[in-house]
Amino acid sequence: MATATAVALSLAVLSAASGTATADDLDTEPAYLSVPGLSGAQTRALSADGFDVVKRTADGATTVIGDAKVADRLRDRGLEPTVLDTVYKKVSTKAALGEYYGGYKTPDLHFKHLDDVAAAHPDLAKVYDIGDSWLKTQGQGGHDIKAICITKMADGDCELSPESAKPRFSVISQIHAREIATGEISWRWIDYLANGYGSDETVTSILDTTEVWVVPIVNPDGVDKVASGGDSPLLQRKNLDNSHGDCGGTQTGVDLNRNHSYGWGDAGTQPCSETFQGPSAGSEPEIVAVEEFFGKIHPDQRGDGDAPAPDDTRDVMISLHSYGEYLIVPWGHSTSPPPNDSQLRALGNAMAESNGYQVGNPSQTVGYLASGTSDDYTYGTLGIASYTFEVGGQFGECGGFLPAYSCVEDLWTLNQGALITAAQNAKAPYQL
Ligand SMILES: [Zn+2]
Repeated sequence: MATATAVALSLAVLSAASGTATADDLDTEPAYLSVPGLSGAQTRALSADGFDVVKRTADGATTVIGDAKVADRLRDRGLEPTVLDTVYKKVSTKAALGEYYGGYKTPDLHFKHLDDVAAAHPDLAKVYDIGDSWLKTQGQGGHDIKAICITKMADGDCELSPESAKPRFSVISQIHAREIATGEISWRWIDYLANGYGSDETVTSILDTTEVWVVPIVNPDGVDKVASGGDSPLLQRKNLDNSHGDCGGTQTGVDLNRNHSYGWGDAGTQPCSETFQGPSAGSEPEIVAVEEFFGKIHPDQRGDGDAPAPDDTRDVMISLHSYGEYLIVPWGHSTSPPPNDSQLRALGNAMAESNGYQVGNPSQTVGYLASGTSDDYTYGTLGIASYTFEVGGQFGECGGFLPAYSCVEDLWTLNQGALITAAQNAKAPYQL
């Protein structure tokens, strides 16, 4: 067990530096571990065996989340993990009621926020219940999943029909529950728009011409589980569907961002894998809800077969994730370029001018293929310009899945310009 002690010691050094943990926590507190020199097949095998694989770089360095026990299990496979950074950051502010980890909002607060914005701005905002979470479908609590539409309301605006007068820009976040900064960015995006109309020229112009839709919490059951950890949020990524087996801890559930019904079927098949794709395409109630929602607000402009969507295609969709500072374009399920590749990248590059993120497909950014994702679905079925943002970096207080709450304002500010660019180009995203 000398090796476990070595990991504990290096964790102790890190913790002493960042002040986040006591020596007693080190055996069980998760860290970002780096495993060098893995082939793609080895990385996939780790994921299939239930290791929490975050990413893989071109040289094979693979990031895995785990505690000292996980490090031991990696060594048992002949691998040599080293510690990159702590998962938990300093909690320097006290969370208010309904908040956790220094100020992050629970799903209840997010959904109340939508209703509050619509009540305060009936001329600008409207809220819809778009479906149920897994627990709600089981009669075990859970949530209605909610969307907000924001525009300067004219007759017929913000209806659940694809034939809208104005083009549309939709944003979804926290489909992966533990990527907690993403819901906060959506919260601030909503407030920026609702509070800025009439005083902020950019906002006024966007809302006079465009409908902006936001689903801030796609996976509310998962976020409740994350929040239940308080100052040590649980690392739940997937939904809480336990019908395929109870894996314990935070490993039960279906990866909603592998469950979409376009290009589905090349992700995890083991129920306890963090990328478990589910038993069939679109099997999960959260995915049924958002796919129906997308189909109701975005017209189908997909080209036939391999033909590109036409140049006058309208609408943009962005799915917010963490982390890595990437701006990801389709396809996720294939390395071959999508029919509108250069147009998708052109808008991607325009958005990246403000946040500086690296533009590329999943293979070029996070380092693996990802089938059944939201952006593959909205681009693949509807033809609209679709993206995944990986917000935040890897290291330090503002890095990883659980950045300190004090970092959220900067993460929002950094990505604000990219969201504005997307909204301003919703009318003709392929005509930059
Ligand atoms: Zn994610």
